[in-house]
Amino acid sequence: MSTRKPTPDTPANRRKDGRSPDGDVLDTMKRPLRDLRISVTDRCNFRCPYCMPKEVFGRDYKFLKRGEILTFEEIRRLARVFAAGGVKKLRLTGGEPTLRRDLPTLIEMLSDIQGIEDLTLTTNGSLLKNMAGDLKAAGLDRVTVSLDSLNDAVFREMNDVDFPVQRVLDGIQAAAEVGLTPIKVNMVVKKGVNEGDVLEMARRFRGTGHIVRFIEYMDVGTSNGWRMDDVVAAKEIVAAIDAEFPLEALDPQYKGEVANRWGYRDGAGEIGVIASVSQPFCGDCTRARLSADGQLYTCLFAVIGHDLRKLVRGEESDEEIGEFLDSLWSRRKDRYSELRASQTESGDGKVEMSYIGG
Ligand code: SF4
Repeated sequence: MSTRKPTPDTPANRRKDGRSPDGDVLDTMKRPLRDLRISVTDRCNFRCPYCMPKEVFGRDYKFLKRGEILTFEEIRRLARVFAAGGVKKLRLTGGEPTLRRDLPTLIEMLSDIQGIEDLTLTTNGSLLKNMAGDLKAAGLDRVTVSLDSLNDAVFREMNDVDFPVQRVLDGIQAAAEVGLTPIKVNMVVKKGVNEGDVLEMARRFRGTGHIVRFIEYMDVGTSNGWRMDDVVAAKEIVAAIDAEFPLEALDPQYKGEVANRWGYRDGAGEIGVIASVSQPFCGDCTRARLSADGQLYTCLFAVIGHDLRKLVRGEESDEEIGEFLDSLWSRRKDRYSELRASQTESGDGKVEMSYIGG
């Protein structure tokens, strides 16, 4: 991975043309595009109700056909264009990315792109035990594993396909053994479902080097029946853990870091809290998401996607695609989470998280 350190994006360093000191385009809130999340499939082998409820994503659901999804070559070409425009981090998502056939081949194709400093993957861990070695050998840096409870009954209920928690824990162990570290463990906390498991999750991963990130339940998409009443606020989560294992706030590691970091005062590592509902962080959001069929979304809660597949399969050159992206990003205004509370955005027609990844 390249070690080029980007020049700090301070007002003093900002160029007259509104670009960052590195010449990267800034959006209307002066945010550069640094983090591209690439969904490599819209399919998943879990049916977590907050993301892919069975009632909606059932037997008759029309998933994307093979010819509709971007090929590895198309993904690589787009990733190179994004990297030339300032993207430093690629995160592979889904659906469940490990369901995409020959995923290690794609990772190898992305692992030597100039400018990319971090190549990571978010997975439900169901296939990780057998794939960890190949993913690492292909050039993957690290993994984030979704794990909503250690209580087997609660976990089976939350993935809604009766999948045992032990197999995900085995996947995390395998990833640690091959060095896909630091491992982040994402737990979506929903009131009345798994908030009682927060402490056990903290206890289990303290001192392991793995970082648990507790995520506030979000109104992603339009199919999860989200209610504010089901949200356990970050403050409550931190307080519950702090009562047992005293915590101290830590500084972000970089501008645009999603999670608020908290360190255990006794040195047993850290946790993260992703508080999109109670403490929105749109001001530093440097992320965009590419769906498996090549639609670009500039916000997790976006309603409109922008067709890059048409460009990558058309006559456009890399430069022309780059210019299209620059112009699109320079007009970006997204700050859904900040506006959620003031209800100025209806939220109708929001893209499904399972289609663009978290
Ligand atoms: S709501 Fe949209 S703009 Fe705000 S942090 Fe999330 S993805 Fe970024």
